Amino acid sequence: MSRSLQPIRGMNDVLPSEIGAWQQLERTARAAFESYGYEEIRVPIVEQTELFQRSIGEHTDIVEKEMYSFRDAGGDALTLRPEATAGIVRAAISNGLLRGARLKLWCSGPMFRHERPQKGRYRQFYQLDVEALGFAGPDIDAELIALGARLWRELKLTRVRLLLNSLGTPAARAVYRERLVEFFQAHEAALDEDSRRRLSGNALRILDSKNPQMRALIERAPVLTEYLDPESQAHFAQLQANLDALGIPYEINPRLVRGLDYYSRTVFEWVTDALGAQDAVCSGGRYDGLVAQLGGEPTPAIGFALGVERVAELMRQASSAAAPAVPELYIVVGGERAEREALRLAELLRDALPGRGVLVNLGGGNFKAQFRRADRSGARLALVLGDGELERGVAGVKPLRREAGQSDCPLELLAARISSLLAQEPPAKAAGAAAAADDLRRG
Ligand code: ATP
Ligand code: MG
Repeated sequence: MSRSLQPIRGMNDVLPSEIGAWQQLERTARAAFESYGYEEIRVPIVEQTELFQRSIGEHTDIVEKEMYSFRDAGGDALTLRPEATAGIVRAAISNGLLRGARLKLWCSGPMFRHERPQKGRYRQFYQLDVEALGFAGPDIDAELIALGARLWRELKLTRVRLLLNSLGTPAARAVYRERLVEFFQAHEAALDEDSRRRLSGNALRILDSKNPQMRALIERAPVLTEYLDPESQAHFAQLQANLDALGIPYEINPRLVRGLDYYSRTVFEWVTDALGAQDAVCSGGRYDGLVAQLGGEPTPAIGFALGVERVAELMRQASSAAAPAVPELYIVVGGERAEREALRLAELLRDALPGRGVLVNLGGGNFKAQFRRADRSGARLALVLGDGELERGVAGVKPLRREAGQSDCPLELLAARISSLLAQEPPAKAAGAAAAADDLRRG
């Protein structure tokens, strides 16, 4: 046997046994996004490297050390997207979607960051992104947060809290940055290597440090709130009043700065105490300067990104993921002629009973083996097609989830009979790959 290939570190397969939570999250999010007027956009996974340098910022972890960048065969400098906002803004500009218009867009897909892989932190991970372009807020800021709160409610996730801050305007932040540099320079000996590097590049980043040893010092640093310009202060106060009116609790965290440079004014993070160190499940903020910075006409904007792996894990812990779909019917087949008839019958039943899964026993096997597969599939009813049944123009119908015998049903009455039976039968059981994995574990 030849050597089997290993997956890339930090890049995961999402197996059928795990996909239920993902699909439910995606379904719930899509419906919620649409109900707030967001339209889906799909943008490329690869963009010019310059796009991310100019938007995320040169002195961020992402641009400094986490990007998957390469030259393609034509010599262009390209990067696998580490986040979605830059690409969406680029798309809005290059397709002329803005021109004074207001856009509500959402997007989903994989992002790539060369981080140290650990639980909840991967090198390929999925995000659901929401972006509102052309809205100055603070009404949209509150609405976007309400959208997040709605998602947690509909997904039955309770261990999620909202952290909120305002970064003010770039000018206000520049003044604050000077104070911060003075403070950290006075304590340079206490800085770790990352923070020392950030001190000369972008001192605000130090506040975003994930190193627990830095926490005590960061606690004593001056806070941005005191340097906010009056307009940003008013914006922040109004956002809080909107959230109060909506009944959405929040905690103001003056040290929440976010890891990307393009934010201004409102920033927020939904965090949980259920996932250990990787506690942010959804984060976002306002980026009023970004569109102009990327060559579009000045357009205020705000958005958030939700980490799909982390939310799916929360759903798993809360057992709030729906059970995966299982087939309702399993057709047991005896003989060559019945095989052809079974394939035909299955097509007829799929037409007649939309939404009901119909499996045909493929690859033969004696009745005992076929009934074992039928049971394992999770189906609620078996249909038996053998030579005898075909001669009589019937199928045998046998409930699988309770003690009951097999009875004949004329083929032309089968769909109606199945419908009424399924209305009464006990529920299906876990099936497919999930059950196969359980079988494997049981040995
Ligand atoms: P963190 O503080 O955990 O590094 P971040 O501030 O870098 O997160 P964003 O860039 O705002 O995160 O991305 C939005 C969301 O995407 C995060 O809240 C998180 O749920 C998720 N996320 C970010 N990086 C990763 C990763 N490497 N693996 C899995 N999920 C991630
Ligand atoms: Mg990060």
